[in-house]
Amino acid sequence: MDIYSTVRVNVGSGYDVTIGRGIIDCCGQLLSGLLSTRRAAVVTDSNVQPLYLERVVRSLEADGFTVTSFAFEAGELSKNIATLGKILEFFAQSGLTRKDCAIALGGGVVGDITGFAAGCYMRGIDYIQMPTTMLAAIDSSVGGKTAIDLETGKNLAGLFIQPRAVLCDVDCMSTLSHEIYADGLAEAVKAGILNDPELFALFERGEAADKPEIVIDRCVRYKAGVVEQDEKETGLRKMLNLGHTPAHAIEKLSDYHIPHGRAVAMGLGIMARASAKRGCCSTECAARISRALACCGLPDNTDYAPDDMAAVAASDKKRTAGGVSVVLIRDIGDCIFEEIDLEHISGLFADGLEQE
Ligand code: NAD
Repeated sequence: MDIYSTVRVNVGSGYDVTIGRGIIDCCGQLLSGLLSTRRAAVVTDSNVQPLYLERVVRSLEADGFTVTSFAFEAGELSKNIATLGKILEFFAQSGLTRKDCAIALGGGVVGDITGFAAGCYMRGIDYIQMPTTMLAAIDSSVGGKTAIDLETGKNLAGLFIQPRAVLCDVDCMSTLSHEIYADGLAEAVKAGILNDPELFALFERGEAADKPEIVIDRCVRYKAGVVEQDEKETGLRKMLNLGHTPAHAIEKLSDYHIPHGRAVAMGLGIMARASAKRGCCSTECAARISRALACCGLPDNTDYAPDDMAAVAASDKKRTAGGVSVVLIRDIGDCIFEEIDLEHISGLFADGLEQE
């Protein structure tokens, strides 16, 4: 095992994010020092199961854990109430007590639904995040947001519940398709725009793909800092929604065929051009964002019509009484909130969709 860094997240009782290589084969050792229980239930999906489940179970058993496991069909369509019910039954049939622990082994879908199940089961048991996608490693495994999708919309039911630990094995990124890897980078480009010009420069130079540890470490440090100041998204944490108002509209209009990360990339391009049109940032800054996205193999725009996107944004759970709170870009590393009236959202999107 080769640990690159350990990032402390000081929320609730606090937890560590351990980033490194070879962690999958040593997870038993890492968790036995942390947990008092020796019973763990691992939840994963049908793609991750054949790749990593056996190694995780072997490592846990070698350190004295009694392990059960459950895999559901991979994909966002499984992040629903039916799968949640199956996971809760799996916990019960595994004989998990309040002192035992769930482990989410997979991408953001596995992490979100397993965290939610752990938060509900017996009114809350411990859970561990073992992210295996770039998106989960840099974003969804940290911060304690958990959720499932309802028919009415994405992530409409969920809990804030922090994991006991996050174990991030960077080697898992090597089995991701180029496309899924790139989807995760969209959230990292976002972190660079919000706060970290040096990280952003890695994307501009096309160097990010070769340096996953650095990208994950910097994104986790940033997210940990934000979540520590605003666990429940009443203020600063809303900054992390940069690009997400158009992104959620794009995901919904595509019937969720466009993955979250790709939609975020489009949303970043749209918000960059909209910011430039309003004189908030320079056109060169917007162009740099488009170039950084392109270097990651990500799109920066969509063909959906601004009115259709605005109609979805108007029903978004993040809207406020009078409008929608969006994040505008002033420069790389400098962004601000702005409340946009509902009737002006379509105009904002139209500005952002228009290419120079
Ligand atoms: P995902 O979990 O569906 O994973 C993408 C695909 O990669 C799946 O097919 C999965 O089986 C496969 N996969 C996972 N790890 C692999 C590996 N190492 N090798 C090969 N294939 C692998 O999607 P995602 O992009 O990781 O996450 C998206 C989800 O995360 C969405 O539901 C989104 O709402 C959620 N999300 C949550 C937060 C949060 O704060 N909780 C933040 C951002 C996104």
